[in-house]
Amino acid sequence: MKNFFKAGVCLMGLLGLTGLVCGGCRGAEPERVQNTDTAMGTVVQQNLYVRSGGEKEAEEILKLLRGLEEQQLSRRLEGSEVWNVNAAAGSEEGCPVSADLEALLEDCLSLWKQSEGAFDVTLGEVIALWDMDGWALGEREGVFTPPDEETLQDALGRCGSGRLELAEGRLFLPEGMKLDLGAVGKGAALDCLLGYLAESEKITGAVISVGGSVLTYGDKPDGSPWKVGIRDPRDSSANMGVLTLEGQWCVSTSGDYERFVEVDGVRYHHILDPATGRPADSGTAGVTVLSKSGFDSDALSTACFILGPEKGMELAERYGVEVLFVGTDGSIQMSPGMEAYFRD
Ligand code: AMP
Ligand code: MG
Repeated sequence: MKNFFKAGVCLMGLLGLTGLVCGGCRGAEPERVQNTDTAMGTVVQQNLYVRSGGEKEAEEILKLLRGLEEQQLSRRLEGSEVWNVNAAAGSEEGCPVSADLEALLEDCLSLWKQSEGAFDVTLGEVIALWDMDGWALGEREGVFTPPDEETLQDALGRCGSGRLELAEGRLFLPEGMKLDLGAVGKGAALDCLLGYLAESEKITGAVISVGGSVLTYGDKPDGSPWKVGIRDPRDSSANMGVLTLEGQWCVSTSGDYERFVEVDGVRYHHILDPATGRPADSGTAGVTVLSKSGFDSDALSTACFILGPEKGMELAERYGVEVLFVGTDGSIQMSPGMEAYFRD
């Protein structure tokens, strides 16, 4: 995110200037700007309340997200930090990483420990075996063959966050290992956007969703709270309920309906249990985490999906976040603190 924040700082300078020129417009009621586009391989929906002169903010936000993907997080785009790290796997010199990526990886390693290995960003080779990118294109429906046990075990043997070495700005990835930050990229993006919003003199309130991760920020001109729906995992047109939120929050949902393929009545989804290399089977269809931090909401929703309600609830408590589980049977379980925000 370093280069990114640099770009952000330059932009802030410009915004500051515009703010001076436009000082007389301050009293005007903020206007609503809506924008739907794609970035980071997913749909980005923005609802912004902006002061006069802030009409370009939605474009700037998209630029930030695309920069973050291209410069840092993508495992597909040649030249991104993650791509470089993966390309250098097995080398003795390791690969230099920015302070931002190093901090992100430290947080991932800490969650790997806290979740007893359920959350693991080194599963890249196993994820590749399931061809999730192919599912997203809808090309595998009915014709997908899951990887065989031997191939899975071979790839699993090359994974494991405990085998990563991170020291003094260099990351050493063993031969045959690949990073996949798909479980935290959107949350890291929310944290980046919160930094941007805090500096913006034009945006007074916002709801921005990046795939399954949503941030709320500031307030609406009429003072009413933000409403974030929690989707019914088995009905894309219905909500299980709604979170009512004031001010700044991050909400992430991990679900078995986001990326999956169904063959002969079996649903293969995209959240893998590192113990088996297969789609996690904890009786959970969706997990929503509410937190002040984008990283925590995104990373913990993935981890809790794998762990299931009992262990997931404990993990959420340790991180001080609220969590809501929707079971494959449609049942709902939530942390006590979540009850203050959730209405069905
Ligand atoms: P999310 O939608 O945030 O829950 O992230 C799901 C994505 O995380 C998948 O598409 C994979 O790229 C990656 N992933 C799958 N299983 C795991 C796991 N056990 N730990 C970390 N990342 C994972
Ligand atoms: Mg996640």
